[in-house]
Amino acid sequence: MTLKVLSVVSEAYPLIKTGGLADVAGALPAALAPYDVRLTTLIPGYPPVMKALEKSQTVHHYKDLLGVEAHLVGGIAGGLEVIVLDAPALYTRGGGPYAGPDGKDWPDNWRRFAALGRAGADVAAATDLLHAHDWQAAMAAAYLRFDKKTATPSVVTIHNIAFPGRFPAEIFPSLGLPLEAFSIDGVEYFGGVGFLKSGLQAADAITTVSPTYAEQIHEPEFGMGLDGLIAARRDRVFGIVNGIDTAVWNPASDQNLAAVYDDGTLRAREENRRAAEVAFGLSEGEEPLFCAVSRLTQQKGMDVLAAVVDELVAMGGRLAVLGTGEAEIEAAFTAAAVRYPGAVGVRIGYDEALSHLLQGGADAIVIPSRFEPCGLTQLYGLRYGCIPVAARTGGLADTIVDANEAALASGAATGFLFDSVTPEGLTRALQRAMGAFGRREIWRCLQKRGMKTDFSWARSGQRYAELYKRLVNKSL
Ligand code: ADP
Repeated sequence: MTLKVLSVVSEAYPLIKTGGLADVAGALPAALAPYDVRLTTLIPGYPPVMKALEKSQTVHHYKDLLGVEAHLVGGIAGGLEVIVLDAPALYTRGGGPYAGPDGKDWPDNWRRFAALGRAGADVAAATDLLHAHDWQAAMAAAYLRFDKKTATPSVVTIHNIAFPGRFPAEIFPSLGLPLEAFSIDGVEYFGGVGFLKSGLQAADAITTVSPTYAEQIHEPEFGMGLDGLIAARRDRVFGIVNGIDTAVWNPASDQNLAAVYDDGTLRAREENRRAAEVAFGLSEGEEPLFCAVSRLTQQKGMDVLAAVVDELVAMGGRLAVLGTGEAEIEAAFTAAAVRYPGAVGVRIGYDEALSHLLQGGADAIVIPSRFEPCGLTQLYGLRYGCIPVAARTGGLADTIVDANEAALASGAATGFLFDSVTPEGLTRALQRAMGAFGRREIWRCLQKRGMKTDFSWARSGQRYAELYKRLVNKSL
């Protein structure tokens, strides 16, 4: 029997994307289809989502969904089977899904995502299972639990526990929950309302996106105040590593590249490197080209990368940075590009096509994250022969095999891992990468091994399907 699952999420590729969450949500339906799971995606009706909606049909009308009028519209969008929460008062605006054009979070985000949760619980009640992603969707699990009229099981996936979705207690009366919900085992969180916490408390299972991060969030250092809850629910917490969409991320057919290639035609990467040099205003050269494709934030350790640009250039490396984020980090990279014209290039902004070109043309991708639930850019790098130089944390530790002597000798190595996210730690890792780059045979081995590794959704799709089935059969 086909399992009907509702995935509730605030972004999904190719409709709207600010990060890895969108890639995962966009890939899950196809990842689960082979296991007899039909996954429908409930997503807010932001302008690009409404525009992409085809074969649409209104399936429900809310006169008053947490104070606004809304419709649920079923259809296809960007190749995904969707139900769109069409609520113009909440979602028809410029800017991004979470923040206005000024970069500030929308002040009514609590209502925007509580409404998503409320609608998610309503729709999920008629399916076999609810799968909610991150704080923006987590309230769906809480509403399901407090509705009490349905036994639909729920899974909440943590893509990043650092975003708790915490709001003042004053919003509670507007959420439409029973009074008893405002309690420590309900939605109350440090005196306010915590959306992620509410979902984690209510869910029948909690997943996060790599086994190492699943362990790390039991600890205060990574748990961001939710480690106690995670530890108390230990037997319900699972780490399932993200896969990648191997159709979207395929160097042999990627239309964003100047030249396509596979592990037998790696020389063709040079053409992509040239195109990347041009795009980033770098001079043509043979020196290794490092890149970063990232939110420019402390979490991603981008301040540390900015701090070692001088060392990197002094060792003969070059750097291309694509990203947006914290003003200080943006400014540090922009200043570095001015200091080192031709050797350091920076694009402040979000550009999907350029992100592919960098993976296909740069020699290495630098990912010095302080914590990393899974990380996707290292997986894209591995598949594209763009060697990751990354911090040994979370999903980075789970997916990259460090090029130590033993791993090099056995041919298992795929990248460079380092422990201390400091300028010294990163500089040492960059030195190791530079050393290997100079030994062509070794570099080629690293590239080929990464490109041959299977990061498709096959295994993880199966793990999600197994978890869903255990929950539905009440055998967890
Ligand atoms: P996170 O979701 O924490 O930001 P991930 O590594 O899981 O980190 O996913 C980031 C996703 O966003 C990847 O698909 C990456 O290619 C993409 N990305 C990040 N910054 C940019 C950018 N400036 N332009 C284009 N794509 C970007």
